[in-house]
Amino acid sequence: MSKANIGVVGLAVMGSNLARNLASRAGNSVAIYNRSVDKTEALVAQHPEANFIASETIDEFVASLSTPRTAIIMVQAGAGTDAVISALAERFEEGDIIVDGGNALYTDTIRREKEVSQKGIHFVGAGISGGEEGALKGPSIMPGGTKESYETLGPILASIAAVAEGEPCVTHVGTDGAGHFVKMIHNGIEYADMQLIAEAYDILRQAGGLSPMEVSGVLENWNKGELESYLIEITAEVLSQVDAKTGKPLVDVILDAAGSKGTGVWTVQSALDLGTPVSGIAEAVFARSLSSQSAQRKAAPTFSAGTTSWDIADQAAFIESVRKALYASKIVAYAQGFDAIRAGAAENNWEINLGAVAKIWRGGCIIRAQFLNRISDAYGKNEQLVSLLFDDYFTKAIEDAAASWREVVAKASLAGIPVPAFASSLSYFDGLRATRLPAALVQGQRDFFGAHTYKRVDMPGTFHTLWSGDKSEIRTD
Ligand code: NAP
Repeated sequence: MSKANIGVVGLAVMGSNLARNLASRAGNSVAIYNRSVDKTEALVAQHPEANFIASETIDEFVASLSTPRTAIIMVQAGAGTDAVISALAERFEEGDIIVDGGNALYTDTIRREKEVSQKGIHFVGAGISGGEEGALKGPSIMPGGTKESYETLGPILASIAAVAEGEPCVTHVGTDGAGHFVKMIHNGIEYADMQLIAEAYDILRQAGGLSPMEVSGVLENWNKGELESYLIEITAEVLSQVDAKTGKPLVDVILDAAGSKGTGVWTVQSALDLGTPVSGIAEAVFARSLSSQSAQRKAAPTFSAGTTSWDIADQAAFIESVRKALYASKIVAYAQGFDAIRAGAAENNWEINLGAVAKIWRGGCIIRAQFLNRISDAYGKNEQLVSLLFDDYFTKAIEDAAASWREVVAKASLAGIPVPAFASSLSYFDGLRATRLPAALVQGQRDFFGAHTYKRVDMPGTFHTLWSGDKSEIRTD
């Protein structure tokens, strides 16, 4: 029996599409296995052209793989993934490779890698972005694991990845959980990007009086410039959709309570642990939480909230200001995301090339965007770049947008339009560029009630003021 160079376990939406993608590339022969046989049979019946080597049992599946055996797991994250990993690890041998292509929490991946590698088996946590269509036509792939495993796995993943400007959207991100960490941050940035676009829409609609169809047209225009991205493109489509049942814009009949699956929350939790401010991402996660607080929202009284109307003299200038505010806020969200990757890499001893990460996000994934080329260039020019905002291109972009950004945030506040992500991004920028922050006062407060000590600007050492005594200062280090 001929053997397969790659196998896929888990044939729900993602696994079946990934298996078909693998089978469509020259040189690949694909083994497939799913816990319930009906999914395997259906896939084989629907896609005879794929010449899958199908198995009904995990033993048959393992026997159908050539060595080093390489299997990609695409099952439900959590207990399902652990069950499949242990079934494969029992049967695999030294040098074989188990890839978890699901959305695992990176700390789980680190734990699993430690366990599996004790048997000499490689374990690779690979973030795969692009949803169902990406899995079939070419996702962006973020694999972790050992360099050695990437020698076998890299060419296979490169064969199925999206291609951006002639380059496959896959790179060896770093060891153990690095791939899943970077995928998590990708999803966090996705939350921020979506929220920012939603805020721009809300302003254009509420303050500018544009209809969803008109906002769709504005976004189509924006998609021809520096904001060009998949998310802008699909938002234009969503806004142009008319509900067949009512004839209303579809967006007006969709309940305004946004859900989430958890990777945004993970990003914020991890960033809190790392002490990295990802305020734009956090506001996006909280905005979804607020939208879903239906009991509170329904109970809210009609406040006379002190709002004033936003007088718009020049509609074109107003739209351009909103575009600039969106672009500047988006730059901040990406800068914060890349800072979180750098902090995660330092914490976990990963060597992550930020420019390479920006490159593999240019195609296949949800946040694919023209301006990732600029991010890649920025980190390519200077790998040690302290913040994306300090690269010449982005500094100029922020300077160009700053006045409009402030005007939009201020006027939205006056008009009572919630803009949590726009506003927090602007405050982050102002915090970053401030020569002096009120954190000095916070340190004084902390020292007052908890003797937490402080440092001085004019001499080395650690100090405490005797607040309840004679208020003299003592050196404590
Ligand atoms: P899913 O609905 O998350 O999971 C269903 C699959 O998991 C089925 O094949 C199921 O087998 C299998 N499974 C569950 N528990 C199992 C167990 N204990 N032992 C063996 N198999 C088990 O599938 P999905 O939507 O295709 O996603 C797969 C992975 O990709 C997930 O980790 C998901 O987070 C990630 N992902 C999904 C998307 C997306 O857009 N859907 C995008 C990126 C990443 P049975 O058929 O036997 O029940």
